[in-house]
Amino acid sequence: MDEYDVIVVGAGPAGATAAFFIKYHDKSKRVLLIDKLEGERYNTYHRICGEAIRAITIDELSPLVIDGIVERIYLVREIFGRNKIELPAHGLLVNRVIMLKSIIEQFKRLGGEYKNSRFLGLEVKDDKIIVETNEGMLRTKYLIGADGAHSTVRKMLNIPDPSICFATQYIIDKEPVHGVLEFYFDKNYKSNYKWIFANGNTTKIGVLAGSLNKEEIDGKILQKQSRSIAFGGVRDIVKGNILLVGEAAGQANAFSKGGIRPGMNAGKWAAEAVINANPDLYRRKWSSSKFNSKLSKYMFEKFKQMNTEEISNHMNPFVKYDGAMSYIVAVLFYTKYLKLYYANYIVGDYSW
Ligand SMILES: Cc1cc2nc3c(=O)[nH]c(=O)nc-3n(C[C@H](O)[C@H](O)[C@H](O)COP(=O)(O)OP(=O)(O)OC[C@H]3O[C@@H](n4cnc5c(N)ncnc54)[C@H](O)[C@@H]3O)c2cc1C
Repeated sequence: MDEYDVIVVGAGPAGATAAFFIKYHDKSKRVLLIDKLEGERYNTYHRICGEAIRAITIDELSPLVIDGIVERIYLVREIFGRNKIELPAHGLLVNRVIMLKSIIEQFKRLGGEYKNSRFLGLEVKDDKIIVETNEGMLRTKYLIGADGAHSTVRKMLNIPDPSICFATQYIIDKEPVHGVLEFYFDKNYKSNYKWIFANGNTTKIGVLAGSLNKEEIDGKILQKQSRSIAFGGVRDIVKGNILLVGEAAGQANAFSKGGIRPGMNAGKWAAEAVINANPDLYRRKWSSSKFNSKLSKYMFEKFKQMNTEEISNHMNPFVKYDGAMSYIVAVLFYTKYLKLYYANYIVGDYSW
């Protein structure tokens, strides 16, 4: 039976990053990264995404190189019912397939092993984990489950599922507005939102729950794609020498459902904990991180209770007034939303 120091299940953003950082910190470790998808199926799965991340991800994950940057984002436009605000931003649109394949290459260059293989089950025996794949049995000291929203590793550990939504995105034959991310908040989006992002010379429109009416789509639909997103966390992200990262651990942001940057940072922290032979380090780092802030859930719950009129009105101070005056008006006359404004500020920084 082949023996490894670490097996990582799932070569998405979280798993590929975890695998890279283990080899980066200790080249002598034998690390295997597996993914059940290959070729076009892998590419299609990973492009069902808005593919937006904050530019700070590059610094957070250095020396890992983020390839596949397609476009720089300098503005976020948020439309709350009839109110619109625009905020400067430092973001990136990436082609995830290029980004992920480059991370896998960087991992392989450090001596990491990558295989197209499906994880089926596990058994803990003494201080080792026996891993069953469709290609046979393997033995490892540590296992990182990065196998996405419907994680099999999580199921094997009997950890209850996180919250799951079913997002749908449409690729529209329409020249996009470049450099800008647009978000629409409206009761119709079921306490979530609609987004419009550039996708090369086409446009991506997406919703996190349900689907869109034809009237809302301004252009010919080239493709309609859907995928689950797991958010809101899970009971345990560490069990013995098994660590869950990314959506396997429900780490997409509870409000925005952005999960690339949170998952990649979690992958890096899980790798550091494994290198230190102390998986609990990862649990503590994630628990205290702003990616895991309770304010995201608070914001999600608050938006559920608001109708479109209230969603519009609560942003009045920031639409009608500029700079310091907007904050003074908010603090004096919109006190019931102060926690929500703060939540918005934190979520804005840590949710993508
Ligand atoms: C429509 C849509 C738009 C989104 N837009 C954004 C956005 O703009 N910004 C953002 O930050 N986030 C966005 N997200 C969320 C983001 O895509 C995810 O949070 C992120 O991909 C999670 O990364 P991950 O590595 O945890 O899991 P995944 O990306 O899901 O990767 C999991 C990997 O595990 C593999 N796998 C699964 N089961 C097994 C198994 N049994 N054996 C072996 N391999 C297995 C899969 O093939 C897959 O490659 C969006 C999601 C959707 C659906």
